[in-house]
Amino acid sequence: MARVAVVTGGTRGIGRAICEALKADGFTVAANYAGNDEKAKAFAEETGIPVFKFDVGDYEATLAGCEQIASEVGPIDVVVNNAGITRDGTLLKMSYEDWSDVLRINLGGCFNMAKATFAGMKERGWGRVVNIGSINGQAGQYGQVNYAAAKSGIHGFTKALAQEGARFGITVNAIAPGYIDTDMVAAVPENVLEKIVAKIPVGRLGHADEIARGVSFLASEQGAFVTGSTLSINGGQHMY
Ligand code: NDP
Repeated sequence: MARVAVVTGGTRGIGRAICEALKADGFTVAANYAGNDEKAKAFAEETGIPVFKFDVGDYEATLAGCEQIASEVGPIDVVVNNAGITRDGTLLKMSYEDWSDVLRINLGGCFNMAKATFAGMKERGWGRVVNIGSINGQAGQYGQVNYAAAKSGIHGFTKALAQEGARFGITVNAIAPGYIDTDMVAAVPENVLEKIVAKIPVGRLGHADEIARGVSFLASEQGAFVTGSTLSINGGQHMY
């Protein structure tokens, strides 16, 4: 029977590409999303992948959402923690809400999803957790103390959980994308984006499917000896 993979924030951007790659690899895939019903409906129709709406930053909602996926799709073997938001602003202009929402969703979402699925993976002796971090969690970024802290936290979370999962056939890894041409980057002002692209040795933004190929490897049988690691996919922008 095909293994079941859940991709948070799977209905658009990088998450969508990950869903499609994992489906092509033979996984049974379920996609989570937060509120954009229109995009989710179109995604489900176009890909045939079922969608589940819940806020990964809400602990109880995430437990209930994963329970629903397990009963409707099957026990969850692979979790891709991809859901993320930005609420940019310099520290002096950043509200407490913008700080805590970014931490709650980007980092808290990883904890909530792991709590909902790790015991089942342990029981079955196999699991894969892939957390989507960011170049800005590795290097920091002006105007993003919230996002950089959350993403940096994801890299620490990954290394700690990898140690807990290793004996049970569960690998836990992170991918740190550079700038990828999704809606999230479309929100960056054009003059800022031009300066960013100028700093990318490869000379362009990345594509969502270039992140998805990395997830595909980390979720595979062949990835069994890779754990606690962070794969940077950033066109050479930050060599860590
Ligand atoms: P998008 O903004 O294009 O898509 C975000 C996805 O996450 C959507 O499906 C959205 O659902 C979902 N989502 C947002 N909040 C929640 C929530 N609380 N609960 C569940 N789902 C949620 O993002 P990208 O594809 O650009 O980014 C994907 C990941 O990659 C993020 O973690 C991001 O931080 C990271 N990343 C992106 C980079 C880039 O250059 N694009 C660079 C480095 C990292 P809905 O459609 O319902 O809103």
